Amino acid sequence: MRTSFAEALQRQEGAPDLSRATGASWPSRLTSFADLCEDKAAEADEHSRVHSDIAAALSTLGILTAPLPWQAGGAGLAEASNWSKLLDALRTIGAADLSIGRLFEGHANAIDLVRRYGTDSQFQTLAHAIGNGAMTGVWGADGKNPLQLSKVSDGWLLQGGKILASGIGLVIKPLVTAGSEEGQRLIMLTLEPRERADLSSWTPLGMQSSATGSVDLTGMVVSEACLIGKPGDFTRQPYFSGGAWRFCAVHLGGMQRLVDLYREQLLLRRRGDDPYQLQRVVACVAAAGTAAFWIRAAARQLALRSTEAEKSVALSNVARGITERAALDIMETVQRGSGLPSFIRPSPLERIVRDLGTYLRQPMPDLAMADAARFALANAAPIKDMWNFDEDQLLS
Ligand SMILES: Cc1cc2nc3c(=O)[nH]c(=O)nc-3n(C[C@H](O)[C@H](O)[C@H](O)COP(=O)(O)OP(=O)(O)OC[C@H]3O[C@@H](n4cnc5c(N)ncnc54)[C@H](O)[C@@H]3O)c2cc1C
Repeated sequence: MRTSFAEALQRQEGAPDLSRATGASWPSRLTSFADLCEDKAAEADEHSRVHSDIAAALSTLGILTAPLPWQAGGAGLAEASNWSKLLDALRTIGAADLSIGRLFEGHANAIDLVRRYGTDSQFQTLAHAIGNGAMTGVWGADGKNPLQLSKVSDGWLLQGGKILASGIGLVIKPLVTAGSEEGQRLIMLTLEPRERADLSSWTPLGMQSSATGSVDLTGMVVSEACLIGKPGDFTRQPYFSGGAWRFCAVHLGGMQRLVDLYREQLLLRRRGDDPYQLQRVVACVAAAGTAAFWIRAAARQLALRSTEAEKSVALSNVARGITERAALDIMETVQRGSGLPSFIRPSPLERIVRDLGTYLRQPMPDLAMADAARFALANAAPIKDMWNFDEDQLLS
């Protein structure tokens, strides 16, 4: 973190949470937002779009500004010391609507990248735009026509595009990766709402309302001021792989919600005394709890002990594998325990299983677990000392 923001952080310590236009505290704004997301999730899913009320509330409830430092009008969620608050926000929004959780995760990631690798002026420009309602995100995936950057007389020319870009049409300050002669660059773009947005290929099983589409950026020219950091910064460790805990936290929200809905259904149908159902309930509760523990450990490690880079990456990779396994087990168990009603719309169980199953597909899961295994094999410490868990902080 650069000096000016480190100083800002110091000044922030002990400062009260900033209330946005509503005058409410961050926790109550988060709750209001999550309630709204849950309320609109079925409609958004049916129409495969971000609900207009959600798009508006992202700004009016100060959700977009929340990751920013307190001085920039935020709730400081992206500060290392607030890792637990960010985790809770990702989990809470994920529990309400995984698609909106995905958007918030990308937004928080982009803010972190610009703060980490950009100049003060670039960060302030982004913070100002966010304060005015702009959403950001990270568009890294390339398709058949990968995005390329080349120097021209009046700046830098973009050719090609991005695919699997969440929030397309809504995200107007996307951070995109592009190949160049010097290596991979990060570019902060400014788009008009819906500019160049193509959602025609987004026909997934779930996550329909995450507006994940493609964008052709060919012909766009950007200035030097739009280039963030040095070549290769995007994939710099431990932050690149270590940051995987954030999407795991959103997944965790989805799986916790599934377990809550399953419990509610069992009680409503008076099926809670059945020994097979009891076994399923405890299996779900244990799986969700295990995932929560590992995700907290990975988040805490990256925030507070990022200098131990290899361990940070390995811990996040383990958390990924455990989260995926727990979610798959919960999805199967809840479906078997609830029966046909969980397959019939508009049951939230039906939608969340579809969304979670789709969103669980993240890049190179096998490699992530193999890398974690290699870390364990190369580590001389006994397993009990490998991670230095601090149980008090993890369970708080
Ligand atoms: C809802 C949603 C929103 C998204 N939003 C964004 C976004 O905003 N920005 C963005 O950049 N991306 C986004 N993505 C894309 C995401 O980052 C990944 O690119 C995508 O999810 C990869 O999924 P995959 O299953 O195809 O991965 P893959 O990595 O292709 O994995 C599929 C399988 O192949 C295996 N595998 C991988 N590589 C190899 C190999 N070389 N040899 C053999 N086996 C291999 C894996 O282990 C796995 O078993 C989004 C994805 C989803 C689902």
